[in-house]
Amino acid sequence: MLKIFALCGGYLELARESMIRDAPAARWTVPIECFLIVHPRGRLLFDTGLHCETMTNMLGRYGEERARRFGVHSRAGDDVVSQLARLGLTPADVSFVANSHWHFDHCGGNEFFPEATILVQKCEMDAARSPEVLAQGTYRPSPRDFEHALRYRPIDGEHDVFGDGTVVLFPTYGHTPGHQSLRARAGRETLVFTADACYTRENMDRQVLPTVVWDETEMAHSLRRLRELRDEQGARTLYGHDPEQWTTLPHAPAALG
Ligand SMILES: [Zn+2]
Repeated sequence: MLKIFALCGGYLELARESMIRDAPAARWTVPIECFLIVHPRGRLLFDTGLHCETMTNMLGRYGEERARRFGVHSRAGDDVVSQLARLGLTPADVSFVANSHWHFDHCGGNEFFPEATILVQKCEMDAARSPEVLAQGTYRPSPRDFEHALRYRPIDGEHDVFGDGTVVLFPTYGHTPGHQSLRARAGRETLVFTADACYTRENMDRQVLPTVVWDETEMAHSLRRLRELRDEQGARTLYGHDPEQWTTLPHAPAALG
């Protein structure tokens, strides 16, 4: 039986209409959600959140344009290494890390996991390193966060992490070229961790995309597929940056339950 924990990877203030494209212009603050899945054969961390340096030096780390777009409202301890410590764990206790994608708020903590195997879709890795893709400007990965000497393992499509069907990464392309989500089977319950394939419940309920999109058609398709998992198969759905849902979740050290 799995144990699952919600870990806070920070808080970002940004334009609400960039996440829900038909929403009126407003700033809001969203959680950067990371999840730890504890399986009898190892621990998997899904996303590593914001780098802890963003709390004190967003401008120095990412430059003016991003520092203007994003306000950081993380408090001390809102980073994955501190969150693991709440569970009595260190990065060395994590056997697998999976990045949903390579935007800065999902791989910021990667460098702290040199011993883990890091699972990323091959097409995300290829795109993030392709001069042609980068020249288009619609996918803006964060090499500062992922280009470290780490044990990356590219995966291609669905990937059953522990080989027993309980923890499965699956493609939800569109937000970025190789975005992936995670599903976990805990007892009779299926949980789906959408990451940025669906920022909030509202995106799913109204089938509305953000403005940050690599491929509109593909992202819309991924969003519909996630909605089917929720509405037709009864999956408990954890959205990537949903402020309202986040306040209702037990956070580490409490288990998700
Ligand atoms: Zn994000």
